[in-house]
Amino acid sequence: MPDSSSQPEPEQPPATLRPASIRLNDYYEVYRPGDADEAVREGRRCMNCGAAFCQPSGGYVANNGRPAGCPIDNKIPEWNELVTQDRWREAYERLALTNNLPEVTSRLCPAPCQDACIVGLNDRPVGIKRIERAISDRAFDEGWVQPVTPARRTGRRVAIIGSGPAGLTAADQLNRLGHRVAVFERSDRPGGLLMYGVPNMKLDKSLVERRIDLLTKAGITFRTGVEIGVDVGAATLLAEHDAVVLACGALRARELDIPGRTLRGVHRAMDYLTGSTRALMASKGGGAEAPRIHAQGKDVIIIGGGDTGADCIATALRQGCRSVRNITRRPQPPGRRDAAHPWPGPTGALQMDYAHAEGSVRFGEDPRDFEAQPLAFLEGDAAGTVGAVRVRWLDTGEAETLPADLVILAIGFTGADAEPLFAQLGVRSVVPRAQPHDPMEAAAPGVFMAGDCRIGPSLAVHAIAEGRAAAEQVDRYLKSRDGPRRSQPRDLQPHAPPLNMMA
Ligand SMILES: Cc1cc2nc3c(=O)[nH]c(=O)nc-3n(C[C@H](O)[C@H](O)[C@H](O)COP(=O)(O)OP(=O)(O)OC[C@H]3O[C@@H](n4cnc5c(N)ncnc54)[C@H](O)[C@@H]3O)c2cc1C
Ligand code: SF4
Repeated sequence: MPDSSSQPEPEQPPATLRPASIRLNDYYEVYRPGDADEAVREGRRCMNCGAAFCQPSGGYVANNGRPAGCPIDNKIPEWNELVTQDRWREAYERLALTNNLPEVTSRLCPAPCQDACIVGLNDRPVGIKRIERAISDRAFDEGWVQPVTPARRTGRRVAIIGSGPAGLTAADQLNRLGHRVAVFERSDRPGGLLMYGVPNMKLDKSLVERRIDLLTKAGITFRTGVEIGVDVGAATLLAEHDAVVLACGALRARELDIPGRTLRGVHRAMDYLTGSTRALMASKGGGAEAPRIHAQGKDVIIIGGGDTGADCIATALRQGCRSVRNITRRPQPPGRRDAAHPWPGPTGALQMDYAHAEGSVRFGEDPRDFEAQPLAFLEGDAAGTVGAVRVRWLDTGEAETLPADLVILAIGFTGADAEPLFAQLGVRSVVPRAQPHDPMEAAAPGVFMAGDCRIGPSLAVHAIAEGRAAAEQVDRYLKSRDGPRRSQPRDLQPHAPPLNMMA
């Protein structure tokens, strides 16, 4: 349990989330909806600084190796001002210029813009993410978000492998430029981790479906249940397309190779979270599918911090676990920004995520324990089934046995889980310290990489930045090729509807 003397001071306005005692009993989104009055109040706090560090235009590189501020260069001071002037549609148009998925970032983003906000040096930073949320909600409510179709088609065909935020963004951008885009997804539903991974409480799945619907209406083709490299070989893909974007994510789970790993009741986080979302979607559709892995009445131990660990805590609470503990090897972060995390980069401070607050409300204490090294999974009363986890506390060196009849491994990912495809193309996943402005063309000509499969496990907003940069580079590549098209422009549309850049 974190040391309460170093708990961070609350930085967000108190109205960001629904009360923990209520929300932990349901799977609806944890946030309160966008609030126009709150957005105007927050917008007025923006100082419209000469050098707005919330936008990375200053080129300052933070200690995580990335530019400080918003990774997609959202025009924050501009939409802040427009909101205070009641010019919501223009605010949305500014937002849509740089952000293909504002309904996603305004929910999921950890808001590095707010870490870099100058107001935050002496006070609570401007609630930029809440303003973005209010703009996004208003735009969808008013019907301003419409499919964007190009004025004319180029006749070039691009295949995108993977339909997470990187793939969706690249597809949107390339389609706007007139290229004919097909997105291939091996799962039964498009959306990548936005669909299966991030739980419904953090991103309602109807929002992902709404975005896919908009992109489909804009002319993008989605083919689900197709694993490229297995169902369709790389050679076929290359023969039928002028360029390929690998946006396969980094879904190869890291392993914890300690005694007892094969006991029943020890599972990977993605299996747990995906099963829970599938069951939820089946029940919404009138189905009765129960998740294979269920926490009801169990002592649950989640190994690994981060977003994934937090989402597993929240899921276990909603399933009615008897207890939940979240152990991680890392030391407890400081209560506030320290010398190792200078402004305007991320604060590196201990965060009280939605799930930690919910665990505290349900069981009277924060579920997190730091500096715990798992040593072994121990068999319980039932043969072959886990009953406890043996850990060593790194601060004292002492060992302890923690009871557990469900253990979830949320210890991260090591790279793309798409071996056959990468082997066929001769490319490798994860480029150390890659940035969106770096060349994205992979070893094979006309093959580009974007998102987690290129930069390693990261954030939705970085995936959007990657998708936009990849689209730009693919477009440049296609324009540079004067020779015959690799593919036949079978679906060229000479009379496509006019370009609507403001949708
Ligand atoms: C549990 C969890 C919670 C998270 N919470 C947050 C959060 O709160 N905020 C945040 O910003 N980020 C969060 N993230 C991270 C964020 O979801 C990812 O960084 C982002 O989704 C990466 O996008 P991507 O498009 O690169 O890949 P992904 O979203 O991983 O999508 C890749 C897709 O490619 C498909 N694919 C792979 N290989 C093939 C193939 N050969 N053929 C066809 N399809 C293929 C996969 O099935 C998958 O659907 C979270 C991640 C997890 C796991
Ligand atoms: S996308 Fe993230 S970093 Fe950018 S403005 Fe929105 S909350 Fe801030």
